[in-house]
Amino acid sequence: MKFNVITIFPEIINSYFQEGILKKAVDNKYIKINTINPRDFTTDKHQTVDDTPYGGGAGMLLKIDPLYKALKSIKAKKGLKTKKIVLLSASGKKWNQKKVKEYSKLKELTLISGRYEGVDERIKEFIDEEISIGDYVLTGGELAALTIIDSTTRLIPSVLGNNESIIEESHSQEGIGEYPQYTRPETFKIGNKRLTVPKILLSGDHKKIKEWRENKSKKLS
Ligand code: SAM
Repeated sequence: MKFNVITIFPEIINSYFQEGILKKAVDNKYIKINTINPRDFTTDKHQTVDDTPYGGGAGMLLKIDPLYKALKSIKAKKGLKTKKIVLLSASGKKWNQKKVKEYSKLKELTLISGRYEGVDERIKEFIDEEISIGDYVLTGGELAALTIIDSTTRLIPSVLGNNESIIEESHSQEGIGEYPQYTRPETFKIGNKRLTVPKILLSGDHKKIKEWRENKSKKLS
């Protein structure tokens, strides 16, 4: 799957893919990360990408021109079945595991990252969807873009070595969280306190362990 990220801070995006599973996903060509900087599509000496809002008000807005040219440079078009263009926005549709599953089937996803007070409203003519990663305001869309890329990449077949990880994890069934997990040591002592692993997990009885895990899975509201 190809991810295009339109951002004035491409290094924030690129640095995230230098470690761990996501680096492997890039190295093994399961995903491709392409950053596009709107500054490269400006014509003035200062490479200006922002300006004051018409009608007054606090802060600056990302200008439509460089953003439109950035989209054009990668031939991104809205309304396609296997490719999507998303504007990251604190007031967009909420990102959740259902959306992650839907997006993991795409061939290409273009994410437009806002900064300052946001983006000129006319960008909405060129996007498929607005997405928010939560009910709070970030300084920019880069963390939101990374959240979307990270969660989507995990569901691309073969990215995680063990496919069971994505079957038995939080949200793989809607409204259900993962069961409690333990690893060695069997008893963890701190002063007088002894924190032990539930006996059932040491029993080797797979049927009972499965039942216990089902019971202990968190019901999320
Ligand atoms: N003035 C905007 C508002 O009231 O919604 C907030 C702008 S915010 C400081 C700058 C940029 O960060 C936004 O244009 C958006 O791209 C990104 N952003 C902030 N919060 C976000 C969130 N919860 N989800 C996704 N993107 C977010």
